[in-house]
Amino acid sequence: MSMNEQLIKKFNKNLSNNIKLSNYSWFNLGGPAEYLFKPENKAQLIEFLKFNKKDNLKITILGAGSNTLIRDKGIKGVVIKLGSSFSNLKLINKNMIEIGAATLDRKISNFAKDNGIGNLEFLSCIPGSIGGAVIMNSGCYGNDISKVLVSLKAIDINDCIEKEIKREEIEFFYRGNNLSTSLIITSVILKGLPNLKEKIEKKQNEMIERKKISQPSQIKTCGSTFKNLSSEKKAWQIIKETGCDLFKEGDAVISKKHCNFFVNNGKAKSSDIEKLINKVKKKVSEKAGVDLELEIKIIGD
Ligand SMILES: Cc1cc2nc3c(=O)[nH]c(=O)nc-3n(C[C@H](O)[C@H](O)[C@H](O)COP(=O)(O)OP(=O)(O)OC[C@H]3O[C@@H](n4cnc5c(N)ncnc54)[C@H](O)[C@@H]3O)c2cc1C
Repeated sequence: MSMNEQLIKKFNKNLSNNIKLSNYSWFNLGGPAEYLFKPENKAQLIEFLKFNKKDNLKITILGAGSNTLIRDKGIKGVVIKLGSSFSNLKLINKNMIEIGAATLDRKISNFAKDNGIGNLEFLSCIPGSIGGAVIMNSGCYGNDISKVLVSLKAIDINDCIEKEIKREEIEFFYRGNNLSTSLIITSVILKGLPNLKEKIEKKQNEMIERKKISQPSQIKTCGSTFKNLSSEKKAWQIIKETGCDLFKEGDAVISKKHCNFFVNNGKAKSSDIEKLINKVKKKVSEKAGVDLELEIKIIGD
């Protein structure tokens, strides 16, 4: 029996072969995963990683896919997606919460509100899971993960051991950090500030409303395509000023409401989105002398 067959046999219920990934990205695009592994729990994840060391299939971690464009030919190796057993919330004390890595940010914000913990309102308007939010140092309206993280637990795929990493050990920057790409985050601890439930709810609603006004909703997008520039200028401003906001490539278009949001209008391919990205990058570089840097992650073949 080949290694791959052994792997399938051993992790039968949780490992599938040749799985369409378009449902796993907010663009609703992307070819198949050679293998998709949804671990039952942490012990099984570690067991799988140890077993895979013999086989050494390439590992790709996917969160909620709200910041990831998956290419049309899909992903070779194993895509690991943490499921419901990694989606949980536990109050540690009056302002700290321990959270499974697959938990959606919106759920965290609501749990915090219900427990009188403020300063996590910004998570109510970031789609995605907390694992992805830590990797991206996601944030909005003056707050981000680096300001509320206490520590995280992660399994290193090199030694298959779970370690705890404290906030002080991590260097965060705008939409990123220096964490090793070999880590699979399994849980995090976030810290908020005690506040009244009504006040927290009001702040959440204000933020959600602000987002509704400035950003499109109900569309196939991964949010901001490019990072804002260090020179205070927003990426959308530069895209507009250089006339790129009207660019399109097949069914890949740019949102009229927010021109840093690239959209699959229904029939686009991932390659159309990528072509549109490159077209905008080229024009912005030629006209404004600015090198736009991607905020979204592009993965696959
Ligand atoms: C409509 C819309 C609005 C948005 N608004 C904002 C905003 O205001 N602010 C903002 O910062 N972002 C925003 N985003 C982008 C996106 O929601 C965030 O980047 C989000 O935190 C990504 O989380 P995810 O779980 O979807 O990550 P994914 O897209 O699945 O993955 C992102 C990265 O994290 C890694 N990853 C995911 N989970 C784990 C894990 N457990 N362990 C290790 N690595 C992991 C992946 O490998 C990948 O590199 C928006 C997106 C959309 C669609």
